[in-house]
Amino acid sequence: QFNNVPVVGRNGYIEADTAFHNDISPVKVDLVFGTFRSEDTSQYLLPVVKRAENMVVNDTSSHDYLSPTGIEGFTKSASSLLLGDIDQLWKEGMVFGVQCIGGAGALKIGAEFLSRYMNCTTVYYPDPSYEIHGTIFEFSGFQNTFEYRYLNRETKAIDFDGLCEDISNASVDSVVILHACGHNPTGLDLTKDQWIIIAEIMKERKLIPFFDIAYQGMASGDTEEDAWAIRYFHSEGIQFLCAQSFSKMFTMYNERVGNLMVVLKSGFNSDSLKIHFERIVRSLYSNPPNHGARTVYQILSNPELYKEWSSSFKSMVVRIIEIRRAFRKALEEEGAPGKWNHITDQKGMFILLLLTDSQVEYLRYFHHIYMVKSGRINVTGLNFTNISYVAKAINDTLRK
Ligand code: PMP
Repeated sequence: QFNNVPVVGRNGYIEADTAFHNDISPVKVDLVFGTFRSEDTSQYLLPVVKRAENMVVNDTSSHDYLSPTGIEGFTKSASSLLLGDIDQLWKEGMVFGVQCIGGAGALKIGAEFLSRYMNCTTVYYPDPSYEIHGTIFEFSGFQNTFEYRYLNRETKAIDFDGLCEDISNASVDSVVILHACGHNPTGLDLTKDQWIIIAEIMKERKLIPFFDIAYQGMASGDTEEDAWAIRYFHSEGIQFLCAQSFSKMFTMYNERVGNLMVVLKSGFNSDSLKIHFERIVRSLYSNPPNHGARTVYQILSNPELYKEWSSSFKSMVVRIIEIRRAFRKALEEEGAPGKWNHITDQKGMFILLLLTDSQVEYLRYFHHIYMVKSGRINVTGLNFTNISYVAKAINDTLRK
């Protein structure tokens, strides 16, 4: 009976977003969802995306189905953004991709594969993490969904010893989700030396790395640098999966462009692995949509468009860095209690303010500032008009 379905509360993001839209205050500030905003608070769309989309529309002569694994040109150029030159590896079947419905879809297809065909039952993901990680794996049949220590909430730094201890205790064949860069929500990434240690533990404990990369280039400003960990694992001969999202990098959130990259030591059974992926896709949605992936492919494969993309993308990253600096300065000038160096130490689109639930509520009800639990904020929801208002409000909240 439908009546017997348990009653649940709304997802925190949707609840906060709805409340923001219902708020009629002229000073309200939206820091909820991680979409890139311009200085005037409007949603930013990269001009090169518009150009490429027009080309795609002009070139479209049919809307025939794609194969379940999608457009091969797209998955190959997406994978080479991660690994560099992969021509030979691709030919030999040691690297291949599955076009997915965004990064979340890539996580889902990967989780289904690991659960159904590799008999994996345990997954570890960071505490805290992208909120849907646990649910995706649980819904895909994983019996154990564990968090590993990541953020030390006292020092606002990575608890690296805790992380190492937790994954060292994981049983063989556990899947470990690793944010490759721009960790959501903490903005704290591992150093190269730390990645080297993690790779060692993975090898020794026979764990299966599952990279999640949704912000390539947004952490360091350089796409190669942000893929360092992925390239290092590959160079160490480790086999892994990687869920790659193009939503943030191309400001194309609703086109749902993602790639699941599979990296193997040998390509001997890759044809049969691909058939397993095809079966999973067919059982879920048959085959992926065309437009977004075709647009990203157009940009990645056309040097002129790619150059334009790189240059606009760099401006986006500069804006993130400038806002971080200005926000830290505003909080320090305001004399807001606590240290604020983590704002400029963290990288990428999010700042984790580590506020209590009641502080988040206070900011909402008394200052019309909206954010999700723990005080994770979208950096680009701040701008030079509202930064000092938000800093004052945070100061007020922390002094209550
Ligand atoms: N992984 C992480 C770490 C993310 O932050 C996000 C987006 N919030 C995703 C995956 C999902 O990306 P997409 O929107 O492309 O599904």
